[in-house]
Amino acid sequence: MDKQRDFVLRTIEERGVKFVRLWFTDVVGTLKSVAIAPAEVEGAFTEGIGFDGSAIEGLSRTYESDLLAYPDPSTFQTLPWRGDIDPTGRMFCDITTPDGEPAVADPRNVLKRTLARAADRGFTFYTHPEIEFYLLKSSKYGEEGPVPVDSAGYFDNVPGGTAHDFRRRSVRMLEDLGISVEFSHHEAGPGQNEIDLRYADALTTADNIMTFRTVIKEVAIEQGVYATFMPKPFSDKPGSGMHTHLSLFEGDANAFYEPGAQYQLSKIGRQFIAGLLRHSNEISAVTNQFVNSYKRLWGGDEAPSFVCWGHNNRSALVRVPLYKPNKGQSARVEYRAIDSAANPYLAFSLLLAAGMKGIEEGYELPPEAEDDVWALTDSERRALGYSPLPASLDHAIEYMEESELVAETLGEQVYNYVLANKRAEWRDYRSQVTPFELQRNLEIL
Ligand code: GLU
Ligand code: MG
Ligand code: MG
Repeated sequence: MDKQRDFVLRTIEERGVKFVRLWFTDVVGTLKSVAIAPAEVEGAFTEGIGFDGSAIEGLSRTYESDLLAYPDPSTFQTLPWRGDIDPTGRMFCDITTPDGEPAVADPRNVLKRTLARAADRGFTFYTHPEIEFYLLKSSKYGEEGPVPVDSAGYFDNVPGGTAHDFRRRSVRMLEDLGISVEFSHHEAGPGQNEIDLRYADALTTADNIMTFRTVIKEVAIEQGVYATFMPKPFSDKPGSGMHTHLSLFEGDANAFYEPGAQYQLSKIGRQFIAGLLRHSNEISAVTNQFVNSYKRLWGGDEAPSFVCWGHNNRSALVRVPLYKPNKGQSARVEYRAIDSAANPYLAFSLLLAAGMKGIEEGYELPPEAEDDVWALTDSERRALGYSPLPASLDHAIEYMEESELVAETLGEQVYNYVLANKRAEWRDYRSQVTPFELQRNLEIL
């Protein structure tokens, strides 16, 4: 620890860093930042930096508003988009109360707590997110809706297009920030792109996702375009998911891998999937936290709508990808509901808790879905036991209100905050008269 602090202090000195940004995340998943002078960094390590938590979404109750941010030296990086003029560093922070207790509502702490519970049972949790987003000409839009930067599609190579330069610049910046990128490509929607981060332990990937979103926004500004992680910006085009590959390790061994078993998937892996399936509705208001998230889930285009699993089945909520021979350590399962606007700390906490519950309670995995579940009729799906995911945010809130698993994992304060926040969003939404209603109703009623 002290070595890491020394390293940070030395790097600041050697590179002539002028500002250090302290980053943390509110309950909704918005990145917060406070810049401190290099001279303050040593004190920040030992005494923290005080701030008013009541001004941050969900972070503290007003009567206990003083909080401290302690930078985590292992996350120090210099921000590449700042260039060489006034070099700026950043560190993620852990939030504590003035008496040094971890703040119960700090999302990073919620994830740390959940990871520690899994570690008590001998497991480390790894995640690998595939992040989709749209590049638009601008955040402004007229009657025709937002305008994408190109009209290309899946894996298209766009000569002279914005997308190549955009991805190259973003991937370079991510690598400069110590974040490895596995793949990047044009996605199916016009202007839609995907960048997949290399798997890492879930705390690192959650931090990396927060950094990723900032990098993408910064590169967009630099290139005069606009990037959005909104789950479904267009009714008739694919939404932006954040399919996440999940795996558990016991020491160096992948606990999902069992040579010779069906799909090389161990009993632990099967129970983990069973947990994800059984609790998917309850965790939905966090993995898919906006009114708009449900437009994606019910808008087709390879977003999952029904609770089932399948081997390499893209219509299933949980997909078990094909394992490459001799690549047991890459055994993993892909959770396809989560979208690009989720708070990664809270969403990963709930995915882990749901899977762990399956292991602890020894849930049976239902038979896999072999069909394209979207092509089945409602009664066929019912007969096969594929129930729908929540139809709307309102529906997801109802599931969450009944969930012990979510209350226990998030802790009372975050649980209540998320529910209150989501209820308010739903209340605001349900009184809106939409263009759909005007088109359908105005001229005939
Ligand atoms: N865009 C799709 C979604 O919203 C996913 C497409 C894909 O399979 O990568 O989930
Ligand atoms: Mg994709
Ligand atoms: Mg995928």
